Amino acid sequence: ERLRLDGRVAYVTGAGQGIGRAFAHALGEAGAKVAVVDLVLAKAEAVACELSLKGIKSLALAADVSKPEDVQRMVDAIVARWGTVHIACNNAGINLNSASEETSLEEWDKTFNVNLRGLFLCCQAAGRIMLNQGYGKIINTASMASLIVPHPQKQLAYNASKAGVVKLTQTLGTEWIDRGVKVNCISPGIVDTPLIRSQELRPLVRRWLSDIPAGRLAQPTDLQAAVVYLASEASDYMTGHNLVIEGGQSLW
Ligand code: NAD
Repeated sequence: ERLRLDGRVAYVTGAGQGIGRAFAHALGEAGAKVAVVDLVLAKAEAVACELSLKGIKSLALAADVSKPEDVQRMVDAIVARWGTVHIACNNAGINLNSASEETSLEEWDKTFNVNLRGLFLCCQAAGRIMLNQGYGKIINTASMASLIVPHPQKQLAYNASKAGVVKLTQTLGTEWIDRGVKVNCISPGIVDTPLIRSQELRPLVRRWLSDIPAGRLAQPTDLQAAVVYLASEASDYMTGHNLVIEGGQSLW
C-alpha cells in the first residue's frame, strides 16, 4: 500500500533507454503518471508508447538536461499537462572514457554539464514546484563510482561528477526536508545497458565481472524496486541517502 504511487506525477530524464527506461516502467506500474524525457525525442516517444500499451498515462518530452531553457520547458510541459510534479527522477548521465592525462577540457565540461549541472538545473526547477506544494520526492542517479574507483580507471571526469551527485543530494536532502521535499540518490554498480555495451566500454566488462561478488552485471530490473521505494511514502524518513545497488562490488 505504502509503495503505491497512484495519483502521483513523475518524470524521468534519460528515460529513452537503459536504467531510465526501467525507472519509467517501474514508476508507471506503481500507479504514477510518467513524463518520459530524453535528449532524443524518438526514444522518449518509443518508451512513452510502451507505457501507454500497459495502460500507464505517459508523456514524451525532448530535453537536454544541461540547458536551463530545456529543463524549464520540460517542467512547464508537465505542469501544463498534469498540474504539478511530485516525483523527479534525474537520471540522465554520460560516461566518456579516457586516460586522465588525455582528458580534454571539452570532455570534462561535457561530462559535468550533463551529470552535475543538468542535475542541479532539474533539482532546482522541480524543487521550486515541490517546495511550493510542500511535497516532493527527488531521486538522482549517482553511481558506485561515487564511492570506489572501479578498475580499470580512465573515468576521471565521470567519477568526480558522480561524487558531486552524492554531495548535491546530501545537501539538498537536508536543506529541503523540513519543507516536505526528500532528495535521495541511487548508486548502481555496473548495469547491462546500451551505455555499457558501447564500443568504448565493452572491453572493460570482462574485467569488471571478476570484481563483482554477485558474479554478474546488474540488469535494469534489479534497480526498479529501489526507485519505487524512494518515490513512495514508505521512504518518507529518508533523505540525502545514497542507496548502493552493486552486487557487493564496492566491498571487494
Ligand atoms: P544510457 O546511455 O544507456 O542511457 C542514457 C539515456 O540518457 C540515453 O537515452 C540518452 O539519449 C539520454 N541522455 C544523454 N544525455 C542527455 C541529456 N543531456 N539530456 C537528456 N537525456 C540525455 O545510460 P544508462 O546506463 O541507462 O545510465 C543512466 C544513468 O545511470 C546515468 O546517469 C549513468 O551515469 C548511471 N549509471 C549507469 C551505470 C551502468 O553501468 N550502466 C552504472 C552506474 C550509474
